[in-house]
Amino acid sequence: DGAINRIAAGEVVERPASAVKELVENAIDAGARRITVDYADGGKTLIRVTDDGCGIAAADLPLALSRHATSKIDGSDLLDIHTFGFRGEALPSLGAVGRLTITSRVPGAQAAEITVAGGQAGGVKPAALNAGTTVTLRDLFYATPARLKFLRTDRAEAQAIGDVVKRLAMAEPFVSFVLRDTSGGGDGREVFRAPAQTGDLFDALHGRLATVLGREFADNSLAIDAEREGLHLTGYAALPTYSRGSAVAQYLFVNGRPVRDKLLTGALRGAYFDFLSRDRHPAAALFVDCDPRLVDVNVHPAKSEVRFRDPGLARGLIVSGLRHALANAGH
Ligand code: ADP
Ligand code: MG
Repeated sequence: DGAINRIAAGEVVERPASAVKELVENAIDAGARRITVDYADGGKTLIRVTDDGCGIAAADLPLALSRHATSKIDGSDLLDIHTFGFRGEALPSLGAVGRLTITSRVPGAQAAEITVAGGQAGGVKPAALNAGTTVTLRDLFYATPARLKFLRTDRAEAQAIGDVVKRLAMAEPFVSFVLRDTSGGGDGREVFRAPAQTGDLFDALHGRLATVLGREFADNSLAIDAEREGLHLTGYAALPTYSRGSAVAQYLFVNGRPVRDKLLTGALRGAYFDFLSRDRHPAAALFVDCDPRLVDVNVHPAKSEVRFRDPGLARGLIVSGLRHALANAGH
């Protein structure tokens, strides 16, 4: 089973940033309001994600580490997914490629922890923790030097971790995020902080985008709010005057999940076709939300690609939703 876990792990965990993504998604799924991510040496020696979510009962800790154990779906309906997680693969995969410790506490019980290294889990032990869950992953790929060799510089890996945290922070404006680089010990250096936003969704998103993408984007973008046959589009898209020389500032989410998808970026480009020359790109943070049955997020284990049941509908929604907002703004 260790070998199987390592193979699965190769799909789920390519680099420190993919581990961070899985752990932060778990924290979000657990209903956390505050999430802190610490890393050292680009995440190669340490990744620690702390949340104040629902916690894991001591008796369930071994289960959380076993393959295909998920508390999130009952297995009967893989198409009806409302959480990030549903495969039950992340924790066993991380336990196969690094030294993983989960410390957790559910309200009204003692905290407990479990450690797994090289796929071998120890017993559940009492621990000290106020609330929520702390997952610590040390020495990623220590048992597979070949994989370690493929990692980029600490700086590049740290950059990728930052990107992942920022993307997830955009999708969860009511949750506070702190990212710290603790290389060299101590409390570390704060890399990114996004305080929890309040107010309605558009206010909260506007505030969060100002934190993540900058005040200039927030002040030069239009609120987008459109609906078509059960597909909802919300978010902010830049005025044509605030365009970029590359498409890096385009952030797309489907049912709260950061995605990179040609259909959606193509639609975004199409919406601005009349307003931007070919070498300019609109900055945008757009959220498509729909019944999980209308979109397949099960395309790739990293879950960043999506397949809409009706691609034309998704494209049409984005093009018309954005054009409508641009027209209202006098374009
Ligand atoms: P999945 O997210 O696909 O269910 P994971 O391997 O990521 O699978 O996690 C396994 C299980 O461990 C989850 O279904 C959940 O019950 C529990 N779990 C993991 N992380 C947390 C967390 N931060 N807070 C509470 N429960 C968690
Ligand atoms: Mg998960």
